[in-house]
Formats: sequence, C-alpha cells, structure tokens
Amino acid sequence: MNIIMLGAPGTGKGTVAGILQKKKGIKQIKTEDIFRKNIKEETELGKIADSYISKGQLVPDDITIGIVEKRLEEDDVKLGIILDGFPRTVVQAQELDKILAKKGQKVDLVINLVTPEEEIIERIVNRRVCSNSECKTVYNLILNPPKQEGICDKCGSKLIQRKDDNIETVKQRFNSYLEQTSPLIKYYEKQGNLYTAEVSKEINKLGKDVAEEIIEKFF
Ligand code: AMP
Repeated sequence: MNIIMLGAPGTGKGTVAGILQKKKGIKQIKTEDIFRKNIKEETELGKIADSYISKGQLVPDDITIGIVEKRLEEDDVKLGIILDGFPRTVVQAQELDKILAKKGQKVDLVINLVTPEEEIIERIVNRRVCSNSECKTVYNLILNPPKQEGICDKCGSKLIQRKDDNIETVKQRFNSYLEQTSPLIKYYEKQGNLYTAEVSKEINKLGKDVAEEIIEKFF
C-alpha cells in the first residue's frame, strides 16, 4: 500500500505515519530526514538543501524528485511506503505517479491533515527532537513533554530544537504550504484517494486518534 501524508507543517504527519509504520509495518520515508542526513554529512546536496530549509522555502523540485526516486529503488520499500513530506508540489505529485506507474503501482491513499494555524505555530515552536539520529523521537513541551527536561525518554540523548522551528520560519513554511502544496488537495481529490482528517486539541483529536481511525477504515 502506498500512502501519502499531506498537510501543513506541524499538523502531525510524522506522528500518524510513525504509528502506521509501527502497527502496519509500512516503511515511513521522510524527505526531511534525507535532507538532514546530507546536511550533517556536509554533502553538496546537503549544502544546497540547507540554503532553502533554513529560510523555510521548499528545496527545488528536480533535486527533491531525484532523491525520492533513488530512495524508492531500495529493497525495504517493495511492500509499500508512507511518504511523509513528499510530494509538496503538483510537479512532484505528477513525477511520483510516473515513478510508481513504472513499477505497476499507484498512490493508494492520501491522508490530508488539517489543523488551525494558531495551533500549528504553538505546536512547532514547542517541538523538540532527540539529537540521536538513530532515535529522532519527537516531543512537544506542552502536549507530550519528556519526563526529564531536555532529555529523551527513550535513549537518554539531548533534545534539540530544529533551527527552522522558529516563528518567522514557520510562517514562511506555512505560506509555502498554502501556495505550493495545498493545490495537491484538488489533485488527489480528482484521483479519488483523498481522506481528510482534522487534528486539533479543540476537538480533542490528536495524531494518534487519527492513526487509529485510519487503521479501522483502511486496513
Ligand atoms: P518538514 O519537516 O517535512 O516540514 O521538512 C523540512 C523542510 O525540508 C521543508 O521546510 C523544506 O525546506 C524541505 N522539504 C521537505 N520535503 C520537501 C519536498 N517534498 N520538497 C521540497 N522541500 C522539502
């Protein structure tokens, strides 16, 4: 099964995808992780990606499509994928359809998460991530704080704040979403595989609740 996580930054795509990976064994692929690995290793791709990511802008389509296409050739995705953070433009979506069609596959389900903008900002600025690249557990200082301040519950490593998780960059990332990514809602509506779910503390529904709902409906 090939699943896409769609939604503005901070809507809980990673949380939902992580639960689906754990419970249903489908590999979660985050474009952000591929970029950050390259940034850490100071590769050419990493340097280019960092210049966009640090400003809250999307990395150009040709670079992003290239890395995803390469990743989809690996063995661990033969049974399906949960793409978290890709596609983010109509061009990326069209190219993904072509890449999957070559393998006789298609996008089976698009999970579109919706959250009020004020909640998104509050969530992102309070987000902390485990600095251990093998762990990368995500916390929220309000919704899901670590037991000991600044320390990962799972592996004991230091928690850090992503440098693009600040108010100015979040606003830019939200604008990039509205301009470049939100047209994908129509794109997948036309394909007939879009499932929209609201994630908001106002209706007492978090990512884990949506993940359960999806498992019940689609598996
Ligand atoms: P995320 O944590 O998924 O919001 O990704 C962090 C940043 O990585 C984004 O703000 C973009 O700069 C970059 N990025 C991730 N996925 C993509 C993509 N599919 N296309 C272009 N840029 C991306």
